[in-house]
Parts: sequence; C-alpha cells; structure tokens
Amino acid sequence: MKKISILIPAYNEEESLPHLKKRLIELMDKIKNYEFEVLFINDGSKDKTVEIIRDYRKEDSRFNYVNFSRNFGKEIAMIAGLDYAKGDAVIFMDADLQDPPELIPELIKYWEEGYDDVYARRSSRKGETFMKKFTSKMYYRVLQSLTRVPIQKDTGDFRLLDRRCVNALKKLRESQRCSKSMFSWIGYNKKEVMYERDPRIAGTTKWNYKKLIDLAIDGITAFTTSPLRISTYIAIPTFLLLFIYAIYVIIKCITFNVAVQAFQAIILLILFFSGIQIMLFGIIGEYLGRIFNETKNRPLYFVDDYNGEKEQNN
Ligand code: UDP
Ligand code: MG
Repeated sequence: MKKISILIPAYNEEESLPHLKKRLIELMDKIKNYEFEVLFINDGSKDKTVEIIRDYRKEDSRFNYVNFSRNFGKEIAMIAGLDYAKGDAVIFMDADLQDPPELIPELIKYWEEGYDDVYARRSSRKGETFMKKFTSKMYYRVLQSLTRVPIQKDTGDFRLLDRRCVNALKKLRESQRCSKSMFSWIGYNKKEVMYERDPRIAGTTKWNYKKLIDLAIDGITAFTTSPLRISTYIAIPTFLLLFIYAIYVIIKCITFNVAVQAFQAIILLILFFSGIQIMLFGIIGEYLGRIFNETKNRPLYFVDDYNGEKEQNN
C-alpha cells in the first residue's frame, strides 16, 4: 500500500488543531486504499500546540510530530517536514484549515495519473484584506518578470509532491528559503487544481507585513541575480547623460564666454548620484548578506524531539 505524508507546519495553532484533527481523521478514514501519516512540525509554539499534538500521537499512531528547538519559520518547518516524511508522496497543508483537506482525494487522483507536483490554485481568498491580495498579486508579477522559470499564479504551499520532487527539494539546502520558487525551479510534471481558499478557522494569522516583505525580498534574491544587473542598466544612460551635459557646458562656456551657474546643478547632481549609489549598495548588500548566510553553512534547524524521542543532533 502506498504511503502519503501530510505535512503541517504549526506555530501557535492550539485553537485550530481540534478542527484540523477532526477533518483529517474523517478524510483518512474515508480513503481506504492508502496508508496515511500526518506529520506536524511544531515550529517553537509558545502555546499548548505541542502538548495537544503529543496527545494526538498517543491516541492515534498515524499522527507524528517533529518538535523544533525554537521558532525557525514556516519555510524551515517545510524542509524539516520533507526530511522526516516517510511517504511515497507528501502533501503540504496549513494548520488553520485555509487549505481544505477535502481536496486531497483530487490531488491523489492526479498523482496516480502520473503527475509529480499537483498544486492547488486559489480561485478566491476569503477573509483576506484587499491590501494582502493586492500585494501578493504584485509580488507574483515581479517575481515572474525576473525569471524564465514559470511561477504558478495564486498558488500557496498547498500541494502534493511525488517522492522524486521531495528528494529533489531535499537537495536544496539554502538557509533563506522560498519554497514557492523552489517548486517551480525543480520542474517535473505539474498539474493545477482549482479550489476556494477558506478563511482561517480559528486563531490569528502569524504573518505581518514585515515578514511578508522579508519573504518577498528573499524570494527575488534567492531566485535570480538580475537585480544586480539594474546597476548596469542605470549606469549606461547615466554616463551618457553626464557625457552630453559635459560637452554642452564646455561648448556654452567657450562660445558665450559665460560662467556656469554651478551650485544648483551640483546640488541636483549630487542628490541624483548619491541616490543611485545608495540603491546599488542596497542591492549589493542584499546579495552579500545571502553569501554571508550561506557560507556559514549551518544546519537549517534543530529538532528537540521526534515523536517524543529526544534528538541528539549527531
Ligand atoms: N507557521 C509556522 N511558523 C511561523 C509562522 C507560521 O509554522 O513562524 C505556520 C502556521 O502555523 C500555519 C502556516 O504556517 O500552519 C501558515 O500561517 P498563517 O495561516 O498564519 O499564514 P497566512 O495563511 O495568513 O498567510
Ligand atoms: Mg493561514
């Protein structure tokens, strides 16, 4: 019998978990021809999340958990999930039931037809603010315009991945992760499934705008070095302009025999060029920071215990 792992990163989700458990058990009991494993990754929750998950494990051995030593963030929780998953396929899901488990049979159906990456595309995003919808739309646009690898629109992390994709993703060990672009980057046979994204069942979102902006910048810089090329694109016309302006000033001074009204021009030029320089330094700093983080070559996370067994980290 084929095994399917359902991976669920959870950070302070005590209020959502009972609903989630109920829906998952209903689903797993209904689908008889697969063996299921639910793998929670407790991402350093400060509430009762880990206690609740431990209870689930005691009641039902299909529930497994990885308990992080602290909060590492959802992206890291996802790679840990891949590391610990035992299934022939894995399914990523949020703990807040925004991704309906009832869609899973359809994901499995396409997997059986031979697709390696069956991803769920949202047709609506209930309970999200206009700003959040707008910014995420713009983000997709920017990301896509920067790269040749097709990025799936309106797609989160809710998807089924074949073991081949799991093994491929496990080889990408960079520390500032952007799963969305990694799913695209590894390639393989992809299939889209539409669904209605529900509002969060309980609790509050764990995201804020700072986290989202960080994710967006990570996503772009992790994926492409084309922002570095902006410097070239800006520098060429800038020097052209400078050249033309210099010739103009020289000719004017010689032919009319006048002094240049220098101070205004100088102030403007200083502002202009220092603006450009600051921006370019920002971009360089961005990549320098990435190099710094990757060269440290640290493990991505530490696990306190897996299903109650303490990890020795050796
Ligand atoms: N999450 C996590 N670590 C974090 C933040 C979030 O594991 O530091 C999990 C969270 O428990 C949930 C999923 O990531 O299962 C998505 O988070 P959330 O629903 O808060 O984000 P949103 O749906 O609002 O984008
Ligand atoms: Mg959510």
